Amino acid sequence: MTQTITVIRGDGIGPEIMDATLHVLDSMNLGLQYEFADAGLVALEKHGELLPQATLDSIRKNRIALKSPLTTPVGEGFSSINVELRKRFDLYANVRPAKSFPNTKSRFADGVDLITVRENTEGAYIGEGQSLSEDGETALLTQKVTRRGSERIVRYAFELARRTGRKKVTVVHKANILKSTSGLFLKTARAVATEYPDIECNEMIVDNTCMQLVMRPEQFDIIVTTNLFGDIISDLCAGLVGGLGLAPGANIGTDAAIFEAVHGTAPDIAGQGKANPCALLLGAAQMLDHLGLPEKATKLREAIIATLEAKDSLTPDLGGTGNTLSFAKAIASRI
Ligand code: ATP
Ligand code: MG
Repeated sequence: MTQTITVIRGDGIGPEIMDATLHVLDSMNLGLQYEFADAGLVALEKHGELLPQATLDSIRKNRIALKSPLTTPVGEGFSSINVELRKRFDLYANVRPAKSFPNTKSRFADGVDLITVRENTEGAYIGEGQSLSEDGETALLTQKVTRRGSERIVRYAFELARRTGRKKVTVVHKANILKSTSGLFLKTARAVATEYPDIECNEMIVDNTCMQLVMRPEQFDIIVTTNLFGDIISDLCAGLVGGLGLAPGANIGTDAAIFEAVHGTAPDIAGQGKANPCALLLGAAQMLDHLGLPEKATKLREAIIATLEAKDSLTPDLGGTGNTLSFAKAIASRI
């Protein structure tokens, strides 16, 4: 079977890390076809639009996109292209693995291997019901949580656990204080959990979760939570394992899924061959899992780990003297 994916090379370090990632994917004989599409600053310059219709059509058709970071210039229509993509394709699940890797600067030598599943479309980030009183003294915000939205994200987390052989889902909430929104989320999560007796489910209040993550991160396997809590917790988890250089993310909807690196365009190092391609490569590994190729995904992750262990051609952020492409070649040679 040949699968076509939409490839967005992006801005800043985007093209460099994408070329490196495709070099590694090409070495794996996956039968993947790439359909290149533009978005971000490069699209604005070429087509006069940040997010051209052709790019949206390509993602809609292929249902899978691998995307480098994008620059959203201020004052060009939307506040963020990433948020716009999330809205257009109703990408309700933001899935962020955090795993300790050898020879990376992190607080925990090993033992962190968890996935945050963040609800991506509701909660505190709906962008509605925000107001500031005329005297500037009082600000209000509306949060929205629905049973449907809660159910689909919690179900996604449990299905992910089953598919990847993970054992436990922790539902993170603040239902003791945010009784309506977090309360509905928790109640819905409990109902979904009864359908998955093979997966352990526990509940944890978000503030305690933060402390527990820092003190005993090994107790977590999959975390599922609402938008705002998930935003904060997933960055906290990236910090536990050494920062953004190794943090991938997926935005998943019913009709499309977009895989990416969590970091931005890093304009300070763009065009210098210094960018670490691992986050995007790990995003590609998530994509392979999603495509039903878990053995290939594992092979890719193992090659990355072996390269880090051997300190072979690593980029400067990892203390190496290699560059983006030499690092990718070292990974490809281990596949
Ligand atoms: P943007 O505006 O697109 O978010 P940014 O500079 O605000 O870009 P990041 O791109 O996330 O944010 O970069 C933060 C810091 O981390 C920068 O100093 C950057 O050089 C570094 N960095 C980010 N990604 C990488 C990478 N893949 N390899 C090496 N360094 C990186
Ligand atoms: Mg940034």
